[in-house]
Amino acid sequence: MRLLVIGGVAAGLSAAARARRKDPSLEIVVLEKGAVVSYSACGLPYFIEGRVRQVDELVVYTPEYFRRERNITVRTGSRVAAIAHARREVALECGERVHYDRLVIATGARPCADGIVGVEQPHVFTLQTLEDGERLRRCLEEKRPRRAVVIGAGYIGLEAADALRRRGLAVTVLERGPWVLGRDDAGLTKTVTRLLELHGVELRLNARVSAIEPDRVAEARCDVVVLAAGLRPNAELAAEAGVQAGRTGAIQVDDRMETNLRGVFAAGDCAETCHLVTGRPAYIPLGTTANKMGRVAGANAAGARERFAGVVGTSIVRVFDAGIASTGLSAAEARREGFDPVSARIESAARAGYFGGRPTSVELVADRGTGRLLGGTVAGEQGADGRINVIAAALHARMNLEQFEQLDLAYSPPFAPVWDPLLIAAQQLIRLL
Ligand SMILES: Cc1cc2nc3c(=O)[nH]c(=O)nc-3n(C[C@H](O)[C@H](O)[C@H](O)COP(=O)(O)OP(=O)(O)OC[C@H]3O[C@@H](n4cnc5c(N)ncnc54)[C@H](O)[C@@H]3O)c2cc1C
Repeated sequence: MRLLVIGGVAAGLSAAARARRKDPSLEIVVLEKGAVVSYSACGLPYFIEGRVRQVDELVVYTPEYFRRERNITVRTGSRVAAIAHARREVALECGERVHYDRLVIATGARPCADGIVGVEQPHVFTLQTLEDGERLRRCLEEKRPRRAVVIGAGYIGLEAADALRRRGLAVTVLERGPWVLGRDDAGLTKTVTRLLELHGVELRLNARVSAIEPDRVAEARCDVVVLAAGLRPNAELAAEAGVQAGRTGAIQVDDRMETNLRGVFAAGDCAETCHLVTGRPAYIPLGTTANKMGRVAGANAAGARERFAGVVGTSIVRVFDAGIASTGLSAAEARREGFDPVSARIESAARAGYFGGRPTSVELVADRGTGRLLGGTVAGEQGADGRINVIAAALHARMNLEQFEQLDLAYSPPFAPVWDPLLIAAQQLIRLL
């Protein structure tokens, strides 16, 4: 019995490794079109910044490691051109056909050019693969550009802006929407705008880009452009084989990560998942989710019955000194989803004052009728990661505000104040319910 996996990064290799654990006798083959597998795209901004010196530092495992330690065959330079499910085989670009009994599609996503004219020019970069990162860094080191435009204020755009600014470039971020980080959240947008301003990065909202010119984008002059205008799931290969896409455009899977074709699973950035607050399908492509989906897809492809229930949409991004974190729904998003949201935003010290406590802002959103917690944001230089994870756990547990306000959170002056900012925000919100 052979398990074939298409895609050799987070989701694909998690699937392969988990399948091996479940079934030591399974033949497992991973087909990857690129030259490298098992790398951390998440580390690319830090490679651009220079904190990561060599691109190899972002590679976790080699094909040789998988062969030796896991008895998994990883073939690089192997692009799958078509899937013929009736014959249980895939066709590679080179013409070779490879049989499978079970298939995991983990083809990821690609940067979307959003109809922008001029993206093929040599001064335009994306930040998705190791080669993208190497190309941009080479340009920064050899050509020494002075001005950059980043198109898109999602987390990749903000991380790119941060990295380029740290290298001394003048940076302008152009965002087509009225908010940042893909979250309809005026408060969070204000916080990020202020932070960027403070570090000399200009953010222009509602700036729809239609063309990139050799020396400018819209009115912003530049020598380099980073295109970070969003991601498109690589779902076409699957669709051509009869795999159904969901309303998000990504591959539709059930909670076992199986598609509408029996024995064909999908995971990671090419697939959609369930948003546990709305209960509806969502496309939130992140590494953390890709690993979990891949793990479940791999286990089930090897005969297990495991579930991946979904996500609450938790993310965090470093913007200069601060962690900007969010989970669940903003008040505006909650309203659109049919809730009656009420929200409170507070600012308070992240630690005791005599331990250098810095201001942290917390916003919580709850449903007025039921008191159910629906989402939150945390922004600050200290402890934003831990605090957002508490909110995320509460969302998973479908807590209401009264339960949340009673949480036994840790206190000691070097780490937190006696009233944690999360609890202060909860108290404030309870008063408004
Ligand atoms: C700059 C950057 C920063 C990020 N930071 C974070 C972060 O801080 N936190 C976080 O959670 N996530 C982050 N992510 C997202 C995270 O990297 C992705 O969610 C994750 O890599 C998705 O894994 P995947 O396996 O689904 O897809 P991918 O990593 O895209 O891998 C898919 C693979 O499939 C291969 N493939 C596609 N089509 C074919 C084909 N036809 N035949 C053979 N092979 C094929 C591709 O070459 C690719 O190697 C970041 C991403 C980027 C780009």
